[in-house]
Amino acid sequence: MKRVQLLLLTLICASGANAQTLPRPKLVVGIVVDQMRWDYLYRYYDRYEAGGFKRLMTKGFNCQNTMINYLPSFTAPGHACVYTGTVPSVHGIAANDWIDNQTGRHWYCTEDTAVSPVGGSLYAGKMSPRNMHATTVTDELRLATNMRSKVFGIAIKDRGSILPAGHMANGAYWFDDSTGNFITSSFYGNRLPDWLTTFNNKRLADSLVDKDWTTLYPLNTYVNSVEDNSKYEGKLPGEQAPVFPHSAKGMRNRGYQGLRYLPGGNTITFEAAKACIAGEQLGSGNSTDFLCVSFSSTDYAGHQYGPNAIEMEDMFLRMDKELAAFLPYLDSKVGAGNYTIFLTADHGGAHNTGFMKDRKAPAGNADAVGTTILNQMLEKEFGTDSIVRTVYNYQVYFNEDVIARKRLSENAVVERTKNWIAEQEGVSFVVDMHDRGHNVTPEPLRTMIVNGYNRARSGRLQIIPQPGWYGGHSGTGTTHGTWNPYDTHIPLLWYGWGIPKGETYRKVQMTDIAATLAALLHIQQPNGCIGEPIAEILK
Ligand SMILES: [Zn+2]
Repeated sequence: MKRVQLLLLTLICASGANAQTLPRPKLVVGIVVDQMRWDYLYRYYDRYEAGGFKRLMTKGFNCQNTMINYLPSFTAPGHACVYTGTVPSVHGIAANDWIDNQTGRHWYCTEDTAVSPVGGSLYAGKMSPRNMHATTVTDELRLATNMRSKVFGIAIKDRGSILPAGHMANGAYWFDDSTGNFITSSFYGNRLPDWLTTFNNKRLADSLVDKDWTTLYPLNTYVNSVEDNSKYEGKLPGEQAPVFPHSAKGMRNRGYQGLRYLPGGNTITFEAAKACIAGEQLGSGNSTDFLCVSFSSTDYAGHQYGPNAIEMEDMFLRMDKELAAFLPYLDSKVGAGNYTIFLTADHGGAHNTGFMKDRKAPAGNADAVGTTILNQMLEKEFGTDSIVRTVYNYQVYFNEDVIARKRLSENAVVERTKNWIAEQEGVSFVVDMHDRGHNVTPEPLRTMIVNGYNRARSGRLQIIPQPGWYGGHSGTGTTHGTWNPYDTHIPLLWYGWGIPKGETYRKVQMTDIAATLAALLHIQQPNGCIGEPIAEILK
């Protein structure tokens, strides 16, 4: 009798252990919407569909107060931070491009001279994640499942695909302007997968790039934007005025580059994402797969038109419709409740400076502090030209070899430059990064400056413009890169497997996203991660 009981107990335990395999979603879809300000969730809310952004907002978890915690707030550091859970001082993606302090060489974030293009042109193809000095949460998923999990990256922008997919990705694909195809590099393999060749052969880019951009609704119903023909908007090449219908036909001498500025850029990205899910059978195996999708056209159009343009309103209404069609695709392919989505942005964007000035708000162009004027000022003082190598990414890079060769006092040069910049209009602070103890800026700026400074790749002086001021961009449209909330307050929505319904207004950092994913998936945090899991969604 006892023996029978024991046998039964053993059987129950054995079957129990079987049933208790580690619960994980079948698929994670990471969506980064390039230059999506947090307030776009609400500015256009009334005309969003129930099945798009609103489905994530009302049925998922909304981290309302998610902030970027480093400088500069650019695309490459943003994508790197979301997926590594760490900041430029650690992951090394100090900007979209930077100067290597040791060699003086200019580097693009995903540039890699050791790889060759696969499926595309030389210009677009020599890319890899090798300049990123930390693992991503997608790498950690691969490690945690002994490489059984599949990881892919898709975006128009190379950096929006490569950095999220990490060092161990099965594939990362991006758009080649010269061919209209999604391509990769030899870092990932020596040929395109068949599904991608089939996708490229459909020539979707041909029809999308030549399609005029008209509004979804009558122009006079875009009540959240200024008039169509506004002086704050840039014109596409060949256009007489920045008005609908927009055409990229005037850009055809640049191949398919015009598609980047059109809603069709998002369309082709959604279609490529679906082709990848189907072609790689993502979410249908026994291990969790991960698809990183980044939507870049919102950023190109944002730079072109700024946040107050009908173009941006229409861009987001169209994206919402496409998202509302993409989610049912996931429901049918992977199964509702079997996948987890997070949606965030790599950075936001400022109001156009002219727009703000016309409305009596402080704003201005921060480009007055440039390389030439600094070198003229320093030559008068020290009798030597070319002391400053460049002013870039709101940072001053010095020509250290010139300073050494001319036996100048480095401290005197730096001090003079710092004091001169501090007196210029529109400058809040100048911080000497070799003397960070005297960084007297208020929090959170103080921490953001330290987090953003990469010893090998950042300039020595960090310039902080006043709110509303920005540089590195023309008078029309807008840009981003500063510490201010319009650039650093980003959406963060979670939805699907493992995600409760709710929201929090507690401050969450961009670095918490990867830590939360690691906790949700029961995998190790990326190896440079400084974020913390968002406990509210891990119930
Ligand atoms: Zn961006």
